[in-house]
Amino acid sequence: MKRKLLASLVGMALITGSSAFAAGVTDAMIEKDAQSVGDVLSWGMGQQGQRYTPLDKINAGNISKLVPAWSFSFGGEKQRGQESQPLVHNGKMFVTGSYSRIYALDAKSGKKLWKYEHRLPEGIMPCCDVINRGAALFDNLVIFATLDAQLVALDQNTGDVVWKEKIDDYAAGYSASAAPLIAKGLLLTGVSGGEFGVIGRVEARDPKTGKMVWTRPVVEGHMGYKYEGGKAIENGISGTTNKTWPGDLWKSGGATTWLGGTYDATTGLAYFGTGNPAPWNSHLRPGDNLFSTSTVAVDVATGKITWHYQKTPNDGWDYDGVNEFITFDMDGKRMGASADRNGFFYVIDAKNGKLNGAFPFVSKITWATGIDLKTGRPNYDPANRPGDPTKGPDGKKGNVVFSAPSFLGGKNQQPMAYSPKTGLFYVPANEWGMEIWNEPVTYKKGAAYLGAGFTIKPLHDDYIGAMRAIDPKTGKIVWENKNSAPLWGGVMTTGGNLVFYGTPEGFIKAVDAKNGKELWKFQTGSGVVAPPISWEEGGEQYVAVVSGWGGAVPLWGGEVAKKVNTLEQGGSVWVFKLLK
Ligand code: CA
Ligand code: CA
Repeated sequence: MKRKLLASLVGMALITGSSAFAAGVTDAMIEKDAQSVGDVLSWGMGQQGQRYTPLDKINAGNISKLVPAWSFSFGGEKQRGQESQPLVHNGKMFVTGSYSRIYALDAKSGKKLWKYEHRLPEGIMPCCDVINRGAALFDNLVIFATLDAQLVALDQNTGDVVWKEKIDDYAAGYSASAAPLIAKGLLLTGVSGGEFGVIGRVEARDPKTGKMVWTRPVVEGHMGYKYEGGKAIENGISGTTNKTWPGDLWKSGGATTWLGGTYDATTGLAYFGTGNPAPWNSHLRPGDNLFSTSTVAVDVATGKITWHYQKTPNDGWDYDGVNEFITFDMDGKRMGASADRNGFFYVIDAKNGKLNGAFPFVSKITWATGIDLKTGRPNYDPANRPGDPTKGPDGKKGNVVFSAPSFLGGKNQQPMAYSPKTGLFYVPANEWGMEIWNEPVTYKKGAAYLGAGFTIKPLHDDYIGAMRAIDPKTGKIVWENKNSAPLWGGVMTTGGNLVFYGTPEGFIKAVDAKNGKELWKFQTGSGVVAPPISWEEGGEQYVAVVSGWGGAVPLWGGEVAKKVNTLEQGGSVWVFKLLK
């Protein structure tokens, strides 16, 4: 009798996918994450990164009854920018905080189960606040990257460290803040540090042990390796040394993969964006500087780059091309879309990298007049390139230009969302420009490697942020909601035809996915610069978002930073459900 009862309980656990009997997170579960509404297993709410939940229990008809279920403070004195997306599995929420901290919470009550605070050394060099964007789940592990460029895997139940691996040398400027991506049973990560002349790459590890499986640098000239029995075996040079780079510049070429990647199981490709070529002063490195400011599609099985699409060849404005590449179906084809810092919204064939469309999604773009759909290359306006300092009057400062977007981008780290129901992308855009000029610079390990100066300025008096719904077939902006402060949180859309997003002013908002009409908002007590999630438990739909103002804007934002300096810092996670 007892045995029979136990067997039926185990059976139930398998059906519901919850309870103490549930097995660890498998690759098959991660591939189905976007469809499984009882959990959120990956950054992007699914490997494709669409940030769409089919859940429709919360909708326009009842959202006025959406109220807080619980809130949890990250505590301490470390109230800095919180850009983290929580994960939910087996009744637990895993959420990272500033300064490389991670918490496990009871997803229903908010009760703290454990926390891990990474011991950070003196001398870390995060460019853009001490943020973290989230963790990955695999088997019984929760894995996240730290500001001193390490990976840490902890036991989901106890918070005990199972393995730790160094990505690279923090003293050279390396750091890591993106959520790792699990694809085909591998842990895929990138690196941060593009402002210090480090080398961007995509790396695959065994998520159970942290041991390297392959590494693929994304600066031409650097070697890629696969690892067999702990030994590095050459896996094809990433291009020819000096091709697209002059002299030794490739040795400190940047192109960091700092926002991590997405994956599409139908193509077998992982899509990583790459940042600016280093230094910012483009006159020092004539050529395309591959594979900087690109989307690179990496075959997860081999670590080889199947295709790349470069958005800003020889980038002279720090238009990091890191923005997430979200795959979706369009006219029977698997496409991918990316809203780039350079102001263009790209639609690209996910299988072969062929450009399908490129549309401006901000009101002002000065650096290019458009994108040539045949060649895929931008039509540059040479007059808008910041001048060569060696040709300036004193050889120390090139001519100043006013460029838009600013380097903080038409869109930055805040991820957009795609609704298969409306066929629209929801893009948290910003309207700003910058005065920018070039200066001489030489590479020095661990020192800022820019060779540029700048001041960021708003373009309009009344707003910087604009939530925009974009039709990927035409590039048409179907609706927009302006926001006074720059939008810096991500977006989620739902089967209930809602779009959720946060604002630096502290609100988490829900608007109608079809027309943008505001239906609900809640003040979280600090600025929201993180993407919301949703899941279902016990027949109820939950929505969560992390709150805590910070990130790159207050640090780098020039005249914009002055506009937002009244906003207060924080550090908490908020969870909502419908009032019964
Ligand atoms: Ca799921
Ligand atoms: Ca950069």
